[in-house]
Amino acid sequence: MDKIKDIFEEFLKKDGTLYDTIQRYRDLVANEIAKEQTIDGVLMGPRARREESKLEVSDLMVTARPFLSKDVGKDMDAYYVTSVRIMRHKLAHSLGKAEPAVVHLSGIDLGVDLVKKGVIKDIESFSKVFSLLKIGVVDIFNEEDVDGEKKLDVRVYECISCSGLPNIGHTVCHYEGGIIAGALKEITGQDVKATEIRCWGTGYSVCDFDVRITPKKG
Ligand SMILES: [Zn+2]
Repeated sequence: MDKIKDIFEEFLKKDGTLYDTIQRYRDLVANEIAKEQTIDGVLMGPRARREESKLEVSDLMVTARPFLSKDVGKDMDAYYVTSVRIMRHKLAHSLGKAEPAVVHLSGIDLGVDLVKKGVIKDIESFSKVFSLLKIGVVDIFNEEDVDGEKKLDVRVYECISCSGLPNIGHTVCHYEGGIIAGALKEITGQDVKATEIRCWGTGYSVCDFDVRITPKKG
């Protein structure tokens, strides 16, 4: 099988606007990673962490999505982004500590379904569907083999859940991580785990997922 990153780079070359957008974000994130620190075992980006870790509705209404909003306008984009975030916010309130795991599992279900129903067919359509559904701009930034598993660095820029949020000291995009894991699991036919290691919620301008692909057991 060709490297997933190589397939993605081939696709990027066909779309100049997306290519330029992703290059700009790669530069921005490289700068942020150069300034990051690890605090209590959590990677922290350069945006100052605020004391209050609870999000208010006014926080949820702040968005940073120049690429994904360009066909509908910034205001319209902010409306549906805010409604998705308020729903997630209410879920978090109702589910408490179970919320990250529950939301992640429902993301996996959606990712699997999108492939099973033929909406996502391959790595190219995986990226396109993320943009079309306005979830975020996918970047497969790196791929390497580590300890018998494939390690992918998958990034999401302009994420529907977190782009524009303040640094509240923890990552928030369990749903997007689930969609990535579920879709890649179906595309590759292997076991896939996705863990968000950088996020707007921890002071970056990106969601960065550590994705591990291992041969299916049994
Ligand atoms: Zn995030």
